[in-house]
Amino acid sequence: PEKLIIIGGGLAGSEAAWQAARRGVKVELWEMRPGKMTPAHRTGYLAELVCSNSLRADTLENAAGLLKAEMRRARSLIMAVAEECRVPAGKALAVDREEFAARVTAALEAEERITIIREEARAIPLHEPVIIATGPLTSPALAESLKGLTGAEYLYFYDAAAPIVTAESLNYNRIFKASRYGRGEEDYLNCPLNEEEYRRFYEALITAERHPRHEFEPEVVFEGCMPVEVMARRGPDTLRFGPMRPVGLIDPATGKEPYAVVQLRRDNLAGTLYNLVGFQTSLKWGEQERVFRLIPGLEEAEFVRFGVMHRNTYINSPPVLKPTLQLKEHPQVFLAGQLTGVEGYIESAASGLVAGINAARLIKGQDPLILPPATAHGALLHYITDPTHDPLQPMHINFGLLPPLERRVKGREARNRALAERALQIWSSLGEFSGN
Ligand code: FAD
Repeated sequence: PEKLIIIGGGLAGSEAAWQAARRGVKVELWEMRPGKMTPAHRTGYLAELVCSNSLRADTLENAAGLLKAEMRRARSLIMAVAEECRVPAGKALAVDREEFAARVTAALEAEERITIIREEARAIPLHEPVIIATGPLTSPALAESLKGLTGAEYLYFYDAAAPIVTAESLNYNRIFKASRYGRGEEDYLNCPLNEEEYRRFYEALITAERHPRHEFEPEVVFEGCMPVEVMARRGPDTLRFGPMRPVGLIDPATGKEPYAVVQLRRDNLAGTLYNLVGFQTSLKWGEQERVFRLIPGLEEAEFVRFGVMHRNTYINSPPVLKPTLQLKEHPQVFLAGQLTGVEGYIESAASGLVAGINAARLIKGQDPLILPPATAHGALLHYITDPTHDPLQPMHINFGLLPPLERRVKGREARNRALAERALQIWSSLGEFSGN
């Protein structure tokens, strides 16, 4: 049979190679490290974790846990190795990063159908099936080649995004609906702050810890996209005349304009997710939770995506990618990993799993599969390819992406568990994805 070329031996490429090889397909896996490094990787190992050593939650009340459960059923290499290298981390799955990457590398080296080529791929081969999984730090030459394939306007290099919270975690005793001056429908949710609350929030914001900046990341991408904590440092009132200005917004609880306001904008059609308008940030993730929960109404907010400001090469997938992870115009080219607009280690590996299985199916003359949106994998891949999400904002897996339950279930935990049970039941009927 034909061979499969995989470019990029990160979280996505490693899982994809494993899945394809297990299906009898010969794989050529191209990884440019250690000969050519990225600004964030430190080793020559495949599947290196560039930052945190946590693969996040591992219980079924959490969507990242559901994604893992589905991956385990599909006999994921990343999940199996993570299990072997687990370090104690409460309800999360964290690993010994060195051991983890070393064992993934060893497993792929030992697989006879996989040949690892330690070289930079500078162009995308078009005459045979290929998975591109070069990640957020894709080398410039390959990014150019990708542009040629998708159109330059579809390739993004920077990711400046505000945090996203779930609608059901908001405190509606404080939050009110309104558009400025009553214009338009009441599209926004507003979190009002009085002077004291504003001062406390401001102090926390300007003293919070930021992500260390990498040399490849400019301090400010452009003026309209300044991190909120940098803008705040210009003076105590800058935010009140910027993203937190209260003009034209009357709080029904007081009949007056508040001292300052944080606006939340709907982030999906279903109205289950909201983003904090103008709050793109490079605060550390834990700091974002601590500081933004000081905003009235967000005391118990659940963050499905933290704000980021970093170099992130990714495709605006909705116009160009199918939920099978094939390019619409070039069905023998698959994309996987952070490049597709999924965000996170585990999401990247999950998309690699699907790309690996689907590319193997294509090579064997079978149709690539579209996974049902009520599964975590399916929900994520539908999200990143849905035309209503154009332009795409990269996304973590979360239960807000799954279709709601057919019946009412009270309480967030119980509802999440029911969504997870429904997903796993569907997953068990998915043939080779369920390990059958
Ligand atoms: P990668 O794991 O980066 O793999 C891509 C691989 O392709 C790399 O090994 C690279 O060397 C190789 N490559 C690139 N170009 C070429 C080429 N032309 N030829 C051959 N090989 C090439 N996610 C989290 O869940 N938690 C975190 O803490 C976290 N921190 C992050 C910190 C930074 C600085 C960045 C940039 C991202 C972070 N992410 C984090 C996001 C993301 O989950 C990871 O980047 C994840 O590794 C993405 O998986 P991937 O397989 O798409 O890319």
